Amino acid sequence: MESKDLTNEQKDKVKACKTPNEILELAKNEGIELDEEQLEQISGGDWGVDSRYITCDECHSNVTVTEQDFAKHYVVCPKCNSVYNI
Ligand SMILES: [Zn+2]
Repeated sequence: MESKDLTNEQKDKVKACKTPNEILELAKNEGIELDEEQLEQISGGDWGVDSRYITCDECHSNVTVTEQDFAKHYVVCPKCNSVYNI
């Protein structure tokens, strides 16, 4: 059973989301199961200036940018400790 495959309708809904959180919310509401790879694709997408996530250049993991990070103007990748100015 290919429960992880999204229908075209679900894909359109996902594309309409503006933030990774909206997608996670949608997934919950729709009962969509997203595996790690899909989540990575989603949160590694281009979310514009309001993005609260960056993709680490070194290890390609998604780094959450918090209010505190914005205040400090840098964020540290939790996996490889790369530092990014924000
Ligand atoms: Zn990293």
